[in-house]
Amino acid sequence: MHTYTKKELMALITGKLRRNFGRDVDEATSLHMFKACALVLRDIMSERQMQTQDRTTRSHARQVHYLSLEFLMGRSLMKNAYNLGVLEPLKEAIEGLGFSAPELFESEPDAGLGNGGLGRLAACYLDSMTTLDIPATGYSICYELGIFKQKIVDGQQVELPDNWLGLGDAWLIPKMDEVEEVRFGGRVEDVWDEHGHHSIRHTGYDSVLAVPKDMEIAGYGTEHGNVLRLWDSKSPQPVDMSLFSRGEYLKAVERQALAESISKILYPEDNHYEGKSLRLKQQYFFVSATIQSIVRKHRAEYGTLRNFHLKHVIQINDTHPTLVIPELMRILLDEEGYGWDEAWNIVTHTVAYTNHTVLAEALERWPQQLVIDLLPRIWQIIVEISNRYQAELTTYFHGDMSKVERMAIIWGGDVRMANLCICACFAVNGVSALHSDILKREVFHDAYLRTPGKFKNVTNGIDHRRWLSECNPQLDALIKECCGGDRYLLDPDALSGLEKYKDDSAVLERLDAIKQANKKAFASYVARESGIILNTDAVFDVQVKRLHEYKRQLLNVLHIIYEYQHLKEDPNFMIVPKVYLFGAKAAPGYYVAKRIIHLINSLAATINADPICKDKLQVVFLENYRVSLAEKLMPASELSEQISTAGKEASGTGNMKFMMNGAVTIGTLDGANVEMHQVLGDENIFLFGLKAHEVSELKAKGYHSYEYYMHNNDLRAVVDALAQGFQDGVSYNDLAKRLLFGDGCPADEYLLLADFDSYRNAQKKAADTYLDRKKWNQMSLMNVARSGIFAADRSIRDYARDIWDVPVRDLSKL
Ligand SMILES: *Cc1c(COP(=O)(O)O)cnc(C)c1O
Repeated sequence: MHTYTKKELMALITGKLRRNFGRDVDEATSLHMFKACALVLRDIMSERQMQTQDRTTRSHARQVHYLSLEFLMGRSLMKNAYNLGVLEPLKEAIEGLGFSAPELFESEPDAGLGNGGLGRLAACYLDSMTTLDIPATGYSICYELGIFKQKIVDGQQVELPDNWLGLGDAWLIPKMDEVEEVRFGGRVEDVWDEHGHHSIRHTGYDSVLAVPKDMEIAGYGTEHGNVLRLWDSKSPQPVDMSLFSRGEYLKAVERQALAESISKILYPEDNHYEGKSLRLKQQYFFVSATIQSIVRKHRAEYGTLRNFHLKHVIQINDTHPTLVIPELMRILLDEEGYGWDEAWNIVTHTVAYTNHTVLAEALERWPQQLVIDLLPRIWQIIVEISNRYQAELTTYFHGDMSKVERMAIIWGGDVRMANLCICACFAVNGVSALHSDILKREVFHDAYLRTPGKFKNVTNGIDHRRWLSECNPQLDALIKECCGGDRYLLDPDALSGLEKYKDDSAVLERLDAIKQANKKAFASYVARESGIILNTDAVFDVQVKRLHEYKRQLLNVLHIIYEYQHLKEDPNFMIVPKVYLFGAKAAPGYYVAKRIIHLINSLAATINADPICKDKLQVVFLENYRVSLAEKLMPASELSEQISTAGKEASGTGNMKFMMNGAVTIGTLDGANVEMHQVLGDENIFLFGLKAHEVSELKAKGYHSYEYYMHNNDLRAVVDALAQGFQDGVSYNDLAKRLLFGDGCPADEYLLLADFDSYRNAQKKAADTYLDRKKWNQMSLMNVARSGIFAADRSIRDYARDIWDVPVRDLSKL
């Protein structure tokens, strides 16, 4: 594989500075320098990608298309340099040109085109698909504004726009010759010609242009290259000249603004459905442009769509891209003139669906009137799919209408996207063993009985090159010494080579020293950014993820209040000093989540100002949690909080990032924690709380949080303290009441009070264990050693084998 020297890279970078920005190095700002470096790497990747595409076309290979409304990519400069094998020479080249490489990497904005876990998963999968030599393309929207930037002002979240494209567009290549047209609204009519042939006439629609902006994706240790295709919306006409000529200037540009609003902003709700018409437009816009683009290339290669399903598999990340089903039907029926059965056969052998949640409030159900108004032809096709399905179900279930109703696609004026996916997709997978089981046993039980073969599991995974090797270079070096050099980068199971050092005190002390150094590095970053001085002698106990009631940040807070109350009574109460670190964005409209952020900050201000807590207890809310912050935090974390109500977190991927960096988990048996426990055993994880089935049983028999409050003095004091409030005088009585009585929802819906005691005991056990350094370091080592199965490479091999039926890179050649 061709690689580049420092000297070659310096020449390429100075060339870019001169040709693209008209400057010599001594006139270049760091902004120019960043862009020049990005363009140099982009050229290398673009070249590889075109060769890959040629090979794919020549061999008529089967391709994967990964559709996701979110790709939380984070930064790319270091990642791409790493994957291309030029990280060291690039750093030297940057320094050689008089710039600081770390500062340059740090100046890159995160590409925040996602909310959290689901979007980050898509980004990790792109890396693995490329590394494993799979011909794959990612598709999404080129949001002008990504996930909002979070500021904390007076303890509360304030949202600022995330205008990432100023620098971020250095990675994007617009392809003006591959623009697609997407149609909204209008009327559809049936037309019969003189031979009795039927066709559809669509008139009076609004057109929006979809402009592809391609982001090149480099794999690790391979020449293979893929792309992430981001669609940007543009109006077909810059201005309406007929209005303009009448002097109606504002109206004349209105249409353009409306068309361009489609790709303006990412919806910031995580795990929550909002029935907004602009969101439905985004979904159809991206799905229609994507499928037209795939079909156009397929036709050019094969001249027919009859073999479409043999050459393409479309994986949809949650139900957000569901409209790809009726849209592909539309093209096959209306544009190719296929009959229904032939079209349906192609579609149902092409599309596969990944479910990401069992939360009722996250299931998409679009009001049918919205679909009728915005997508009249798509609506007709959904109706036909729905009618045929319902007839089949009625026969299959012998007229048991309760089952037919649960599985219906159109019901009560809504289009239920998950049911449409289950009907049309050849595979449906959950994202952890527990979650896939719950889908089969509960959420989609009736569908499972009818078509058990469709239901699969692919446990999520993370890009271990980014989340270990790149972000934790010292641990990476230790692993390379212990586990056969670079091997683990392509063979994550090689991490298990660490296990034989679990009684080697030199290795355990190295591990301890690495963690300590990473804590210090993180503390100096926090000090620089915020002025807060973290106590690096304390356990770093970390909960970072979106703010959600089911993730139970509030349970963590209740326990901190408990510790604080007892510390005030007994100065020796804290057997080990602790720093509790939180990071979380709340959806802007999620009131309770924002209250919990405020609470964390009120409590933090009180505890951090109380002399009793000095060197013993500290609470810090980290502003603007995002990928680049996570990359600094994971290596410094010691205790990983994964404390969701059992049965609610589909998988989690944050849990895997912590584990790989040697943090020990305190958690419930939820999502992928179950599989972590399976490989770690009871002795390497702090489990607590109700199991998923116990949660169901308790709810069925009737859960009364008030009884836990009445019978546990410590718990009562903690809940009362919420109502009382803290130093800033803000009362959190609303949160206390929500726990005890509910508020248009069940009291303590997520069972915090039921799990409090068990959580407290697990926290106590973790603190006791921490006192035994050797024991703790052994647990930490075992966590790293057994984290190999949580590499995204493993997940992608599972998809390739169990769902996609595509060949992957062979490890035996390593
Ligand atoms: C990994 C990641 C997540 C997902 O975290 P969970 O704990 O699995 O919910 C969310 N946000 C960011 C920025 C991440 O990197």
